[in-house]
Amino acid sequence: MSERYRRCPQCGATKFWIDDELGHKVVFRVTSQGAPEAAKEPGRDLSLLDFSLIHCLSCGWSGSLGELKA
Ligand SMILES: [Zn+2]
Repeated sequence: MSERYRRCPQCGATKFWIDDELGHKVVFRVTSQGAPEAAKEPGRDLSLLDFSLIHCLSCGWSGSLGELKA
């Protein structure tokens, strides 16, 4: 089931977060195609958010989308 999502290179978790334009934490997963998908608000449009630095919800790892494990 969670195999559909990319994983944290450090701990293997599939949930990450970033701050939105209002400074609120947005929790998301990343599909096997590399597309961020809101984890708590299904259908939320994330296209305007800055994903250049993402944070793992579980272990504190920070990095880029490209560093996630497929
Ligand atoms: Zn992690």
